[in-house]
Amino acid sequence: MANMAIGVDFGGTKIACGLVDTRSGQLTETAKKKTKIIDDKKDVLDRLKSAIDDLLTETSIDIKDTLGIGIGVAGMIDRQRGILLSAPNIGVSQVAITEPISKHYGVPCRLGNDLEVAALGELEFGAGRKQDSFVCIFVGTGIGCGIIHDGRPYLGTSGTAGEIGHTIVVPDGRKCGCGGSGCLEAYASRTAVAKEILSGLERGYESSISDKVDLSNGIIRSKALAGAVSLGDALVIRSVVKAAQYMGIGLANVANFYNPKRIILGGGLVEAVDLYFETAVKEAKLRVLPVPGRKLDIVKAELGDFAGIIGAGMLMNAKKS
Ligand SMILES: [Zn+2]
Repeated sequence: MANMAIGVDFGGTKIACGLVDTRSGQLTETAKKKTKIIDDKKDVLDRLKSAIDDLLTETSIDIKDTLGIGIGVAGMIDRQRGILLSAPNIGVSQVAITEPISKHYGVPCRLGNDLEVAALGELEFGAGRKQDSFVCIFVGTGIGCGIIHDGRPYLGTSGTAGEIGHTIVVPDGRKCGCGGSGCLEAYASRTAVAKEILSGLERGYESSISDKVDLSNGIIRSKALAGAVSLGDALVIRSVVKAAQYMGIGLANVANFYNPKRIILGGGLVEAVDLYFETAVKEAKLRVLPVPGRKLDIVKAELGDFAGIIGAGMLMNAKKS
């Protein structure tokens, strides 16, 4: 048990946790708990504890034998003090996490940002193995990014490095969730693909996907997009290609600016829709400068849904902290 850690992936719609072997990256057990939007600080801790308790019951391990609890959360955090500063997707702000959790279980606890820990997971056991510097970009409802530099997460002065989703690709363009406009996220995310399709449907284009759109919130799942692409649906293909071309511009910008050897692309849209991945890579290679482009390798993430749990567990690996 000396190498085992508990990894917790705390997102906007679920808390997932597992027992992670920090030497092999194997996940022995997982227990998933759904979270909903909450506004009670105590409730956040109660939900975390409930998910961890479920895991402990299922695995019947003594938590004192583990390295401790690593938590990756979708929000801005203060790493040193272990505080969740702001998490709009979870609906809370200013919650102390590591101290009460560590006190309750009697083991160390560390907090990381969800993208930072997902990149850490890929570094140790996924598409970032044997790489010491790379950029991980995850495409879903938004676009997030984790940077690994010289074998460690690079966080920037304020801990916000990697906000590639909010780099501006169209001056005065579409409104973005950050309050700005023309951001990459507003053009290349799954949300952007869905908006493009909905606008096509409103203009009267026929599409096989019309019965798979949730009109109450405009969400179209990545798997539904993949199904429509394989059927040759013109509206969906056009919308996916357009978004992926913007993603390719984003990738070329990253390559020109940071000159990484590898960019890892992940997230639901990339995993489900090959056309998106292939188009983004093609566009990036067309646009990147010749010298940084020569050695640029763009690959898919490998850990899928479990990257968050595994990476969170790796926060407890002293060597990487
Ligand atoms: Zn933005």
